[in-house]
Amino acid sequence: MAIQLFDSLTREIRVLQPSHPDGVYRFYNCGPTVYAPAHIGNFRTFVVNDVIRRLLELRFGAAKVRHVRNLTDVDDKTIKRAREENRALAEVARQWTAKFHADCSALNCLAPHVEPAATGHIREQVDMIDVLMKKGNAYRAADGSVYFKVSSFSRYGALSRVKERELQPGGAPKDHAADADEKEDVSDFALWKAHKAEDGANRWDSPWGEGRPGWHIECSAMIKKHLGETIDLHTGGVDLLFPHHENEIAQSECCNGTTFVRHWYHSEHLLVDGRKMSKSLGNLYTLDELTAKGFSPMAVRYALLMGHPRKQLNFTLESLHAAESALANLRAYRGSLPPTGVVHDAFGPVFTALEDDLNTPAAFGALFTIVNRRAGEADAESFDRALFALGIDLHKAAAPKAEAPPAIAGLAAKRWAAKQSKDFAAADALRKEIAAAGWSMLDRKDGYSLEPARK
Ligand code: AMP
Ligand code: ZN
Repeated sequence: MAIQLFDSLTREIRVLQPSHPDGVYRFYNCGPTVYAPAHIGNFRTFVVNDVIRRLLELRFGAAKVRHVRNLTDVDDKTIKRAREENRALAEVARQWTAKFHADCSALNCLAPHVEPAATGHIREQVDMIDVLMKKGNAYRAADGSVYFKVSSFSRYGALSRVKERELQPGGAPKDHAADADEKEDVSDFALWKAHKAEDGANRWDSPWGEGRPGWHIECSAMIKKHLGETIDLHTGGVDLLFPHHENEIAQSECCNGTTFVRHWYHSEHLLVDGRKMSKSLGNLYTLDELTAKGFSPMAVRYALLMGHPRKQLNFTLESLHAAESALANLRAYRGSLPPTGVVHDAFGPVFTALEDDLNTPAAFGALFTIVNRRAGEADAESFDRALFALGIDLHKAAAPKAEAPPAIAGLAAKRWAAKQSKDFAAADALRKEIAAAGWSMLDRKDGYSLEPARK
């Protein structure tokens, strides 16, 4: 079997293959902006990419996969945060990079082979902008900033089809129109931002004066340095497709004069109550908030993979309960298996589902079909291989459940009894009393559970 994945550029499902003669598969995944804890929406993207990484390793061999994921440690958000906290930018980035790594490891994500940071690659970014200037793809505006001239690249918009959609007169994308002041055209974007007072000490030298790189150029420059001019796979959340990835293509292809990326993959968003989980909407959950409620990081990973990665997934605490009990079933099953010796690999259908455009819900379905069949068909070795592909580690302990104090447990028992005897007024009053004490009751048909209420 070959791995097949949807390609956002050609809009078809295509087979993944290394293109370089050395057989090394080159994979780049846009990483986090390090100024706050990543939320589990971000982690949906990183966990999905971790499954891709694992499939690539299983398919091409671990030594034949090179995975790079960057750290965005200088942009408007990181600078603003450092200023608000009166701290050095590097210190803020260090704090949140460490937190990101801790969360990634709790979620059992394999570390990328290289994790370059934007501030560590200023020279590479300046060099690239310099080439774009010399080739006539960029210009320096009156404010000292350097912009990419979108009209100089005829294929601009191929990925997002933005030309048909938004580059019509009066139809410019909003985030571009907002800072159109010094640009020749609203769709042009910044490669180098001239220093402004609010950037403080965060300034670097360049042939165009002091300033800092624009956001998009960091990925183009770091990809070139760590993976080369043409890479096999580039991924990120769907919000990065435009303008970020469109701009990366323009920068890299104009600079290098060759195909930048052979396969684009974008995973869909995690939603809360039908809206994208995001820092700006304030509707987010961090991993810490969920573990404080008694859920294990492994259940979070499981729940994030329960939806098809190319479909939006609505996050609920219920899905974490379901994930915990699925994990408990898998642990019990693992204990019942002989170590090796079953010739036929019963878990083939799990790989078939994953290699078919990363169909993670189908992979879990296939896994449980086998788990629920009679014993004797599978061994631990093949089961572990299937779990490796999904990144499910049963040895990572289930988090201890947050235990409700006896007084709350007593109220809950009373409320359940009231509800059973259809005394809904009393049940409702007790529910309020429990909520006021910071707990919530999750009712099921046959019982209930107590958990700390969401703030
Ligand atoms: P950021 O730290 O904002 O640069 O985002 C890191 C990654 O998370 C990017 O690939 C985003 O596309 C992705 N992302 C942001 N919000 C969500 C969400 N609600 N669901 C899934 N992925 C997201
Ligand atoms: Zn990027």
